[in-house]
Amino acid sequence: MLEIIQIPVLTDNYIYLLNDPVSGETAVVDPALAQPLLDLLAKKGWRLTYILNTHHHWDHVGGNLELKEKTGCNIIAAQLDIDRTPGIDIGVRDGDFVSLGEHKASVIATPGHTIGHVVYYFAKDDALFCGDTLFVMGCGRLFEGSAVQMWTSLQKLKVLPSSTRIYCTHEYTQANGHFALSVEPDNLQLQRKMIEVADLRLINKPTVPSTIGDEKATNPFFREDSRSLQKNLGLENQSSVSVFTELRKRKDSF
Ligand code: ZN
Ligand code: FE
Repeated sequence: MLEIIQIPVLTDNYIYLLNDPVSGETAVVDPALAQPLLDLLAKKGWRLTYILNTHHHWDHVGGNLELKEKTGCNIIAAQLDIDRTPGIDIGVRDGDFVSLGEHKASVIATPGHTIGHVVYYFAKDDALFCGDTLFVMGCGRLFEGSAVQMWTSLQKLKVLPSSTRIYCTHEYTQANGHFALSVEPDNLQLQRKMIEVADLRLINKPTVPSTIGDEKATNPFFREDSRSLQKNLGLENQSSVSVFTELRKRKDSF
């Protein structure tokens, strides 16, 4: 079993530390900072093998250089971001694989939030590290890509097994959920999820990971095909892309 440790840092970021106990190989996904990881690695007695970056934003790569210098790890990031990922050693493209001992992750390109954004999908471990592409009940802002690109990227994640755990990089759940409810107030599963989320946040517990199944039931950006959602947006019988585009636009000013 892959051990996955979730580390909350900054205001609302999560860093993930992954360890394969058999080979001892260890990776960190999107280290915003180095120090909390150096402390944890020392405590666990683990040696860092890889950094996996999903995209070039500072709150995902901020710890790259210090971690590399102090642990000698290799940095894996999108080939497209080779010029803007600090310390990159290995550039990956859609369809490539990354291994942590016997645990294999496929690299899926998900342009939208940024052009080079990639996610890491450990199929056998039922775990998706999706950076700022997919959030619990939301999706990333379009800083570099178009709505069509983001929609296409999300379709690649929507077809993953329902049991897939979604390890995204931000705790944006509650705010996302308020928006989701504003466009789909009669979604019972969404209402129920918001109660669970409120309880967790009250005691400062993470609402991440979610699952693909949960997202299909509650995340408006996965529900462009929902009749009631389309009706509430005044976009009945419109294409999924136009519903998505309108949702993204409304969320930006929500
Ligand atoms: Zn970002
Ligand atoms: Fe971010």
